[in-house]
Amino acid sequence: MRKQIVAGNWKMNKDYVDSEILVSKLLETHQHSAVDVIIAPPFTNLLAACHTLKGSSIAVAAQNMHFAESGAYTGEISASMLKSVGVNTVILGHSERRAYFNETDELLAKKVDAALANDIRVIFCFGEELRDRKVGKENEVVASQIKNALFHLPESSWNQIVLAYEPVWAIGTGETATPEQAQDMHAFIRKTLEDQYSTTLADSISILYGGSVKPANAKEIFSKPDVDGGLIGGAALDVDMFNAIVHSF
Ligand code: PEP
Repeated sequence: MRKQIVAGNWKMNKDYVDSEILVSKLLETHQHSAVDVIIAPPFTNLLAACHTLKGSSIAVAAQNMHFAESGAYTGEISASMLKSVGVNTVILGHSERRAYFNETDELLAKKVDAALANDIRVIFCFGEELRDRKVGKENEVVASQIKNALFHLPESSWNQIVLAYEPVWAIGTGETATPEQAQDMHAFIRKTLEDQYSTTLADSISILYGGSVKPANAKEIFSKPDVDGGLIGGAALDVDMFNAIVHSF
């Protein structure tokens, strides 16, 4: 059975104090359910979030990391540094990192390898731009992003991979893919995994949808058979909205 997951990507929001307030509210209001809940605060708040959430079932993720183990990479953070503060999950390949920081599939493949070598679970993001969808190339683009960054992995590594389909045109825009568009893409991704690996692997991978998920649309999106949860941006900054999304299954 694959896991249902709701992950909150806080992006570059919340200073230390505001982050601790939000983390504490999440902890106070968290109700146990079958859903795995993950939050991804900024680097400066990871240690505190891990301390506050220790012993709870809410996991803490980083929003990025470098592929090297250590060295002369000013301003960067390695997988083992994340581990040392208690972080066991990292978001890689977010469209904002691809667009603003020139992260390519090749670079992401190296980051994925470094995360897995440190036993860090990867939430791997990908998705087409509006111009791709307008010319019917969304499947092609998505397949190549997954293939280039992940298909070098042996089947045994995939138990540490969560996929997040995030159409770029739906991120932070208030525009969502319809539940049918999300389902079609998720089914295509699963088929792509089946063709490359096995039915067992394709059936076991959680595929999240991301792009303007809110309490008002989460239930319908999560009801689709190949949608296993969501990666949430804006709505993850509000405890009531985030909890409502977690309880939308
Ligand atoms: C995201 O940043 O991954 C995201 C899905 O953002 P939003 O929910 O704000 O569209």
